[in-house]
Amino acid sequence: MSRGDGHPGIPGRGADGAGRPAPPAATAAPGEADTAVAGDTQGPLALGKLTSVVLDALAEGAAARGGPLPGGGPDAVAERLRAACAPVLPEHGTGAEEALRTVVRAVAEGAADPADPWCTAHLHCPPLAVAAAADLAAAALNPSMDSWDQAPAAAVLEQEVTAALAALVYPRWNAPDALITSGGTESNLVALLLARERARATRAAGAAGVRVVCGGNAHHSVRRAAWLLGLPEPVVVDCPGGRLDPAAVDRALAGLTGPALVVATAGTTDEGLVDPLPRLAAVAARHGAELHVDAAYGGPLLFSDRLAPLLAGLESAVSVTLDLHKLGWQPAAAGVLAVRDTELLAPLALRADYLNAEDDGEAGLPDLLGRSLRTTRRPDVLKIAATLRALGRSGLGALVEHCVRTARDFAVLVDAHPALRRRPGGIGISTVLFRPVAADAAPPAEGDALVAEVRRRLLAEGRAVVGRAVAEDADGTRRLWLKATLLHPRATGEDLAGLLDLAADAAARIRTTHAQEPEGPR
Ligand SMILES: *Cc1c(COP(=O)(O)O)cnc(C)c1O
Repeated sequence: MSRGDGHPGIPGRGADGAGRPAPPAATAAPGEADTAVAGDTQGPLALGKLTSVVLDALAEGAAARGGPLPGGGPDAVAERLRAACAPVLPEHGTGAEEALRTVVRAVAEGAADPADPWCTAHLHCPPLAVAAAADLAAAALNPSMDSWDQAPAAAVLEQEVTAALAALVYPRWNAPDALITSGGTESNLVALLLARERARATRAAGAAGVRVVCGGNAHHSVRRAAWLLGLPEPVVVDCPGGRLDPAAVDRALAGLTGPALVVATAGTTDEGLVDPLPRLAAVAARHGAELHVDAAYGGPLLFSDRLAPLLAGLESAVSVTLDLHKLGWQPAAAGVLAVRDTELLAPLALRADYLNAEDDGEAGLPDLLGRSLRTTRRPDVLKIAATLRALGRSGLGALVEHCVRTARDFAVLVDAHPALRRRPGGIGISTVLFRPVAADAAPPAEGDALVAEVRRRLLAEGRAVVGRAVAEDADGTRRLWLKATLLHPRATGEDLAGLLDLAADAAARIRTTHAQEPEGPR
């Protein structure tokens, strides 16, 4: 069935609930298949049977959804999910196959699927099948990365992969290193923690600790990390046009006395803009401050020879945040924190007798505990390693280039659209902001309200997931925009043209509805 709205090819929504198998009668005692373990030589057999149930349920759920997200809005989604999955803790189980069929199908049917080209709101990538398949192995083997005796080979793999990623970020440094984290939030937290500890070690910094200087464009996790670490409130400076202004940072640093950490962003979350890293590095150096770069979004530009120059200056940073569950196509979580010298990680060292006893270390067992703030830790490195090997640097670079090209094509389509307008100025890495021209005709607050309503309308109809961002317009006014974050490694501008018509059409429909209301538009 065709959707008839230019959507690129997922068959029509069939969410009528028909065809859902009735759960079999529950049994009091679990069967052998229900308690099979996933590892060892027999595990794959049990896992294979159940995996085929999972794969069928995924396909059925996606077909029933028939679009990038479930229609009907939050209440309808909650009702369907509860109807399918209740009770979640039955007195007697339904067995592994039934449970997987039911739960996976329900979650798939109700998913916002980033593999749909019209699911573009966030830095929420469609994971590559190779990475998802590797993650199955991670779950089956379950190495825990906090001690060698739980992860003998996985620990070595992590060492090799983090060394390679550190060298990618810091090719000219002798001993760079990197940690695997749960994402940009944890990477930024650890970066600020390490800065705090350096400040504490190098001088009597007083109770205040290191002062973070960042832009209004910085990710909220930077401010939250400062709060969590008991650091003074960060100095937040101007970002004309969405980029951190080196002159403003210069003035901010001139007003500080203690140690400071400038946090720049390479790929802002709202716009994908890269702060002027070389100039910020120079300003920081002039004041004896350190630089941390949050490249959660933009870091993977390093995979592409053509795009890596956009990150010139990155090597001046003492630490760099980088996410592979954004441009990197990993299922969450796949975060990285790179540091320019392995010695910088020393403050994370920790002794716990049951995990890394001193005599175990003397006898040659590697100490892993200082590689994370977490204790039990998933081997997220496994899927990363499989992906790096499968695609190579150039293969990943080509995917990053594809997304950047798609964003350019998408911007051209916006510019050519009679009912839409793009945010003036450069476009971000793979992010494009736009809004209906109808929103400009209304008074400012009403215009922004129309933009917000277009987004919610598309969500409620289950037709597209478009983001929102507040950003400066040409006249300096901050307005609300629709945001498309293009991370699909295969979608093209052509696949996205219909999305623009859909947004324009939603704006027109909302205006018509409001015009018919007695009190006029809100
Ligand atoms: C996404 C993002 C983060 C947070 O990363 P998580 O992986 O969601 O924890 C931090 N900084 C920037 C610039 C981001 O885009």
